[in-house]
Amino acid sequence: MIKMINSGMQYDFDYIIVGSGFGGSVSAMRLTEKGYRVLVIEKGKRWLPDQFPETNWKLRRWLWMPLFRFRGIFKITIMRHVGILSGVGVGGGSLMYANTLPRPRETFFQSGSWAGIADWKSDLEPHYTEAERMLGATENPGLYDSDEALGNVAARFGKSDQFEPTRVAVFFGEPEQEVPDPFFDGEGPRRSGCNMCGGCMTGCRYNAKNTLDKNYLYLAEKEGAEVLAEKKVIGVEPLTDSVSGEPDTGEEGSRGYRVILKDSTGLYKKRTRFTTRNVILAGGVLGTVRLLLNLRRSSLPAISDQLGAQIRTNNESLALVHSGQKEKDFSKGVAIGSIFPPDKDSHIEPVRYASGSGFWKLMGVPMVHGKSVLGRIMKLIWSFISRPLPWLRIYFSRDFARESVILLFMQHIDSTLRLKRGLINMRSTLSSGPAPSASMPLARELADATSEEVEGHPFVMVTEAVLGTPLTAHILGGCVIGKDSTEGVIDQDHKVFGYENLYVCDGSAISANPGVNPALTITAMTERAMSKIPNKE
Ligand SMILES: Cc1cc2nc3c(=O)[nH]c(=O)nc-3n(C[C@H](O)[C@H](O)[C@H](O)COP(=O)(O)OP(=O)(O)OC[C@H]3O[C@@H](n4cnc5c(N)ncnc54)[C@H](O)[C@@H]3O)c2cc1C
Ligand code: SF4
Repeated sequence: MIKMINSGMQYDFDYIIVGSGFGGSVSAMRLTEKGYRVLVIEKGKRWLPDQFPETNWKLRRWLWMPLFRFRGIFKITIMRHVGILSGVGVGGGSLMYANTLPRPRETFFQSGSWAGIADWKSDLEPHYTEAERMLGATENPGLYDSDEALGNVAARFGKSDQFEPTRVAVFFGEPEQEVPDPFFDGEGPRRSGCNMCGGCMTGCRYNAKNTLDKNYLYLAEKEGAEVLAEKKVIGVEPLTDSVSGEPDTGEEGSRGYRVILKDSTGLYKKRTRFTTRNVILAGGVLGTVRLLLNLRRSSLPAISDQLGAQIRTNNESLALVHSGQKEKDFSKGVAIGSIFPPDKDSHIEPVRYASGSGFWKLMGVPMVHGKSVLGRIMKLIWSFISRPLPWLRIYFSRDFARESVILLFMQHIDSTLRLKRGLINMRSTLSSGPAPSASMPLARELADATSEEVEGHPFVMVTEAVLGTPLTAHILGGCVIGKDSTEGVIDQDHKVFGYENLYVCDGSAISANPGVNPALTITAMTERAMSKIPNKE
């Protein structure tokens, strides 16, 4: 329940935060700690563990497609150059991510638009440590069948010494036994131990995954932050009149902002307005870049032309290997249990869903390669005709998650896209470097080696095989850090160039390719940005 309604006498809030993912939740906790009145606005729903879908066949509770009244936690956005996977709900991407928290390599801190602006490696070091503590990062104690398969692939590549368990944000207490908060000296919520069910990406039904609503956001709410779910922010307008005696410094936003929101799930899209001294945009790349692209045409015209530019993925590619080894259970373990670097620019991880989750088999087709769309379609048809049995086995498999290993391949090599306003949604255009490609020789080699290990067949998403468009779970950039507005959208403290009291703290601020899963880095960068904001007087 919102306590402060715009009275006209003072700001409703000191800070309004748009989005409750990694950037939003860290901001909410740190600002509340500093004594500010904070409101977090989230377009998705609030979830209790037993409300998450049992499998990814429960489409209404898994997918976010509010137009069709699907109000789940997982959103798929298809663009010309890339298909983007992202999370929605109170806790943002943490609700459906795979809990893996690697640190990026050295090159990340020295490349991209932020290179040289600060000594990022040493500046961020204490914030990485704090982020790992807060998210409860710990070594995965259980390696199971798909990790064993990846370990064998690592040996084939002569990389056994670099194959390791992932560090994950999971509570490994007694399986399914509830205990008082094990992370924050009893200040956090009660938790239960992980049972290695593999269901992290459809939402943990066992209260074992350290989602943001169990750490940062929980502690923020406990200290007084308010969270408004199922509301989407559609407007941010600089105030021209003084709300509480604020002087007009001449800089846009110096007198605060009016934030306009509307219902995101109800049939009747009621609008509400709040005033605030400061705004933090933390809607993830898709949320923040889209909102700012709209607002640059109306209330925020001075935003840098770099908005939407320098969009990166981790140059990922996803392959699925359907195994013939019926005695194996590839669904057991946490969502991503192990990792190894097949070469100096790449990482690979095996990913799993819980037993019963078979949705992705509907999207799978044989792994084919070739430059032209027509060529790939012909190869697909030939593959079905010449060897129909493996594919029929996949589509009729009883328990696809138990029988399959998903391979997530990521590369440091840089290429960037640009997001622009489209007719209905945003659209992607090529910016620098080669377009992200679904067909990478090393990824193919790894998929083939894994297929041999598990006596299986590799296949890929239909979008990858037919359109050549890769799927990414790691969309980054669009509001990058630069030395000025000709090179970036925000400065090194995450303040938007051209505006006062307006910040971006989420994946869109990532200014180089981390080459590994980015959530820990988003958390550490937001910790750093928040450390620059003084306590409330
Ligand atoms: C399947 C999958 C698995 C992944 N696994 C991992 C992993 O193991 N490790 C890792 O590091 N990363 C992983 N990621 C990536 C990770 O989830 C994201 O990088 C991370 O969540 C991005 O954080 P963020 O702060 O940018 O925003 P998000 O976490 O995306 O949160 C943004 C929030 O803002 C809300 N929002 C957007 N616009 C508005 C608006 N206008 N008004 C109100 N609310 C709004 C959204 O609903 C969302 O809840 C995974 C991603 C996917 C899809
Ligand atoms: S493996 Fe299962 S119990 Fe463990 S964190 Fe993931 S969903 Fe929760």
